[in-house]
Amino acid sequence: MNLEYVPTICPYCGCGCGIYLVVKDGRIIGLEPWKEHPINEGKVCIKGNRTHEFINSEDRLRKPLIKEKAKFKETSWDEAIKTIAGKFKSYSPDEIGVISSAKCTNEENYLMQKFARAVLKTPNIDHCARLCHASTVVGLGQTFGAGAMTNSISDIEESKCVFIIGSNTIEQHPLIARRVIRAKAKGAKVIVADPRYTPTAKQADLYLQFYSGTDIALMNGMMQVILKKGLEDKEFIKSRTKDFDKLKEEVMKDRYSLETVSKLTGVVGEDIEKAAVWIAESEATALIYSMGITQHTVGTENVMTIANLQMLTGNVGRAGTGVNPLRGQNNVQGACDVGALAELYPGYRRVTDEAARKRLEEVWGIDIAGGKIGLTVTEMMDVLAGKMDGNLKALYIMGENPMLSEPDLKEVEKGLRKLDFLVVQDIFMTETAELANVVLPASCWAEKDGTFTNTSRRVQRVRKAVQPPGEAREDWRIICQIAEAMGYREQFSYESAEAIFDEIAKVTPQYGGMNYERLEAAEGLQWPCPTADHPGTKWLYSEKFSTDDGLGHFKPTEYNPPAEVPDSEYPLILTTGRQYFHWHTGTMTRRSKTLDSEVKTGYVEINEEDAEEFGIRDREFVYVSTRRGTIKAMAKVTRDIMKGEIFLPFHFSEAAANVLTNNALDPLAKIPEFKVCAAKIEKG
Ligand code: SF4
Repeated sequence: MNLEYVPTICPYCGCGCGIYLVVKDGRIIGLEPWKEHPINEGKVCIKGNRTHEFINSEDRLRKPLIKEKAKFKETSWDEAIKTIAGKFKSYSPDEIGVISSAKCTNEENYLMQKFARAVLKTPNIDHCARLCHASTVVGLGQTFGAGAMTNSISDIEESKCVFIIGSNTIEQHPLIARRVIRAKAKGAKVIVADPRYTPTAKQADLYLQFYSGTDIALMNGMMQVILKKGLEDKEFIKSRTKDFDKLKEEVMKDRYSLETVSKLTGVVGEDIEKAAVWIAESEATALIYSMGITQHTVGTENVMTIANLQMLTGNVGRAGTGVNPLRGQNNVQGACDVGALAELYPGYRRVTDEAARKRLEEVWGIDIAGGKIGLTVTEMMDVLAGKMDGNLKALYIMGENPMLSEPDLKEVEKGLRKLDFLVVQDIFMTETAELANVVLPASCWAEKDGTFTNTSRRVQRVRKAVQPPGEAREDWRIICQIAEAMGYREQFSYESAEAIFDEIAKVTPQYGGMNYERLEAAEGLQWPCPTADHPGTKWLYSEKFSTDDGLGHFKPTEYNPPAEVPDSEYPLILTTGRQYFHWHTGTMTRRSKTLDSEVKTGYVEINEEDAEEFGIRDREFVYVSTRRGTIKAMAKVTRDIMKGEIFLPFHFSEAAANVLTNNALDPLAKIPEFKVCAAKIEKG
């Protein structure tokens, strides 16, 4: 049999596992794990193992579609591009917004932000990091000077203590969890804090079941214990940080005494104390977190609290330590790195930084929208819903599905329907694409060259294994074609993804020493890699932080309750998240026969005592309601969720969790509070 094995990277989570796509007669028929790959060492999880199944779906988009009289009809690429260019030219910069995609390559995200800023001249460019880790970018930016995982995945197994908070690592980042299990096998203590007794929590030596939204109280309480016992790392605090006095003043307040924190969080005082001592006394503690920390109105403050705890105990800048945010999507780190964010240019330079704007204009040879922070994804939806001032009339969305991923979906739908012009570029007819005026068929990750950057800053090559179906095209080529039709041929005349990457390296200092040749040879490089002879960086901040003064900045945080708390009408806390077999809005995993057959539809987890109180039996259909709407879902009665909380996975359009979620935003990072709102549950 004539088989070809194409090395590439899994398109699902931020672990960035290496796989070989198996190609026969121009069709992908399976995959093999990449045995020598530095992240996964020949292993993949169930999602990774089934990545190829959605690629050959019959319902892939194959031709451009244009809507006429409320119905789509097929059209030519020339006609579609001409229509889009003509419409885009008719809007002023403030009237148009662009949503990029963490599923697409670095090259495509870079081009999308260049297109927004240089062709449309709009500052309104953003992507779904706003919904998952915007608070990491802001919170770690303010404390450490850069918003990224400080350590490496392989490094975690060198830890002597691993503290996991707000991350179900075993189900959501399985090949990172493997390193935690290895650390445990070598004697490390594992602490897991989560309202749900997840498979990750079941591996813990110490499990802290706490109420959603009380993270700051819990960690400030731990820091008070550490200070009272004199377990802080005095040398690290003195030589590497500033504003320790301010932190001390906050965390030593009575409100963070063990007794008070225990009442607020629901965790017994002895366990809080034990966790604090383990973290402080271990030679190397790694802290791992994910969206349980970030998706709150205090998401940025949660992240700062984590940074405070790790600096207080000197757990930064060494192997086995660090602050390790686990990025959800395959390339959410890269999409942030290359500037697909409303407030940041490539390389995390503020859009208000004049010198940064001038540098981009010099390289691009075009005047760009500068000096103004654009609308975030969440703000675009607020403007469309009439909750915020603004004049948005058109949106260009690449590889995103806000009709499932945004909070308060009924308002999102109303807003999107009000748009004068919507272009969606995707591989399937998503719920959002259904509302578009023009739908452009794009290629999936296996049908293009490029790079993804994993959660530990590792930039890796993605390789084209097959041709896209029908007339579908690579996203980067589509962006270039629209730019050309709008008069910017010269500035968007790339012949390959590699040519785009070379330009990224010119304007993104962290990527400055990278090129495709080096990435191929080294199986990826971890940024910062500023020069051609730099080997990349395994862990950050071994000598100084990325702040202006090189010091880590303590940022004291105060516990405040979530935007919505339970009351007599809505007595439960609703929290949402992912499910092992599915991925985000389910666009890809629900088209995989294997994954879909494991979990076919949504469900709501409820504690068995609550179920008894509400008269609800396992597997019966119930109505779940919040102030924003009601959905119907099957009840899953379990001991594994805390009494008073319910959990909904957010992948399923027929039981869409985000009909219910609250779009209250973190004022700093503009991330919505997906993780907490008040809810009620009733028999169906
Ligand atoms: Fe893919 Fe993540 Fe699974 Fe690795 S752990 S195979 S990157 S889904």
